[in-house]
Amino acid sequence: MNIPSNVFVCSHPLIQHKLSILRDKNTQSSLFRTLLDELSACLLYEATRDLRLKDYSVETPLMKTTAKKLDENIMLCPILRAGLGMSQGALKIIPNASVGFLGFVRDEKSLKVDFYFQKLPNDAKHRSAIVLDPMFATGTTALEACKFLKQQGIKKLKFVCILASLKGLQAFEAVHNDIEVFTACVDKDLNDKGYIIPGLGDAGDRIFDTEDK
Ligand code: URA
Repeated sequence: MNIPSNVFVCSHPLIQHKLSILRDKNTQSSLFRTLLDELSACLLYEATRDLRLKDYSVETPLMKTTAKKLDENIMLCPILRAGLGMSQGALKIIPNASVGFLGFVRDEKSLKVDFYFQKLPNDAKHRSAIVLDPMFATGTTALEACKFLKQQGIKKLKFVCILASLKGLQAFEAVHNDIEVFTACVDKDLNDKGYIIPGLGDAGDRIFDTEDK
C-alpha cells in the first residue's frame, strides 16, 4: 500500500486490539464509546509528541529545580457529529485545550459535503489545531475542514482519525501535504456510498446508537 509520507499509522498493540473490537458489528454503543474514548487518548498521545516545551522553575520537597511545561496552546476541533466521540478522550490527555466545532454533512448520493456550522474560540489563530474525526473516508470533509482552518490563520494543524481510506489520504496529501494525519489503520477500499471497507460502519450511528435495527 502506498501510504503518503504525511500519514502515521499507530501500530501499538493496545490500539490495534481496541480497534478490532470497534470493528465488530456486535459491539454495542456503550462499549463502542468507551473504546473510542481510549483510542482517541492513545492516538492524541502519538500526535502530540512534538509539542513545544519551556523551562520553568519548581520547588520539589527537596530542592529548587528546572522543570518543563507545555509552551503551546491547543485547540481540538471535532467534526460533527462523529468527532464528538473523540473529544472526551482527547481532553483527558490535554485538559487545557479549548474546543472549536466544525459541522459538515455529507450527501449520501453525490458524496459532496456541506459546511453548515463552525464555532471556534476567539483566539483560534494563536493556537495549534488538532482536528478530530474518526472516519477519514473520501477525504473531502478533512480537506475542507483544514482549508477553513488555514483560512482562519491557523499555522499548525494535525488530523487525528481512527480509520482512514488510502484513497482519501492520497486526495488529502495532494492539497495538504504539510498536515500530518495520525490513524490506527489504513483500509484499502471505499464502497460506492463512500464508506470505508472493511471499516466499522457509520461511526456516528454507532456512537449515538442511531442505527436502523
Ligand atoms: N463515515 C462513517 O461513519 N463511516 C465510514 O465508513 C465513512 C464515513
